[in-house]
Amino acid sequence: MAEAQILDGKSLAAGIRASLAKRVARLKRERGITPGIAVLLVGDDPASQIYVRNKAKAAAEAGFLPREVKLPASASETEVLRTVEDFNNDDAIHGFLVQLPLPPQVDALRVIDAVDPAKDADGFHVFNAGLVASGRGGVVPATPLGCMALIRLARREMAGLEAVVIGRSNSVGKPTAQLLLRENCTVTIAHSRSKDLASIARRADILVAAVGKGELVRGEWIKPGATVIDVGINRIDLGGGKSKIVGDVAYDEAVKVAGAITPVPGGVGPMTIACLLQNTLMLCCSRLGIDLPGE
Ligand code: NAD
Repeated sequence: MAEAQILDGKSLAAGIRASLAKRVARLKRERGITPGIAVLLVGDDPASQIYVRNKAKAAAEAGFLPREVKLPASASETEVLRTVEDFNNDDAIHGFLVQLPLPPQVDALRVIDAVDPAKDADGFHVFNAGLVASGRGGVVPATPLGCMALIRLARREMAGLEAVVIGRSNSVGKPTAQLLLRENCTVTIAHSRSKDLASIARRADILVAAVGKGELVRGEWIKPGATVIDVGINRIDLGGGKSKIVGDVAYDEAVKVAGAITPVPGGVGPMTIACLLQNTLMLCCSRLGIDLPGE
């Protein structure tokens, strides 16, 4: 068996960000517009803080105008909704997101419903989800967009392939399945109530794991030659104050069987940030009523 192709999300994402930086510079030069991206962080979840910091850094490096608003974990739903409304009404912000999870007193669905779909950089608003599900455009959530770009590194043609997505969240599993369907794959969505996950997974030419359970997918679940996309980010406690990040796939086993595989970290994660910026630039251009500028 030939060695698996390692789907390097870090370098693919760097290429996308470099291309976005040129397009943003051109937009500034020719139209005097700097695309603005805002993030609302509520509370002090350590993982969320890292994600928000990385997003702001990548945005600034690509020439976007980043804005970050932090509210305390005790913030009321009204306060969160007020900030969302401020973002909706601010002409300097072209796309924004509310970092999830939110504290228990804040209804995440109500907050997502309040986001202007024309500024919905995450593509979580039901209006965008509906457009994406019915193949009528809309903002595609960043992580599924990143997964598809990684799959394309290994599979130029996907029509007729068996695709299995493990996980059915609105943000990752479901939209990824829809995008695979759009590529004419035969798609199965497996989830926490699926029976015999191993044999479902073994059918997959393209296997996407978006579960949130460290190393759930074992090497023997993988069809030889399959393209494996590992979305999971799971922190494993190693004791003595040390920890490490693993995916939903047992990488060391899977890499021996798969045809192509994403590492964790360095696979889907960096792609999510690059695709979020791509969505924001797209939203900025559609607000201006112009095509995406060339590089
Ligand atoms: P979620 O908790 O919303 O959904 C998890 C899904 O997994 C559910 O649909 C559930 O049915 C399914 N599931 C749970 N246990 C299962 C089991 N034992 N067998 C089969 N299916 C099971 O999570 P999410 O937001 O979709 O995220 C999934 C993972 O991806 C998490 O680890 C998250 O941190 C990670 N994530 C990574 C990125 C990235 O940029 N790399 C982005 C988003 C999410």
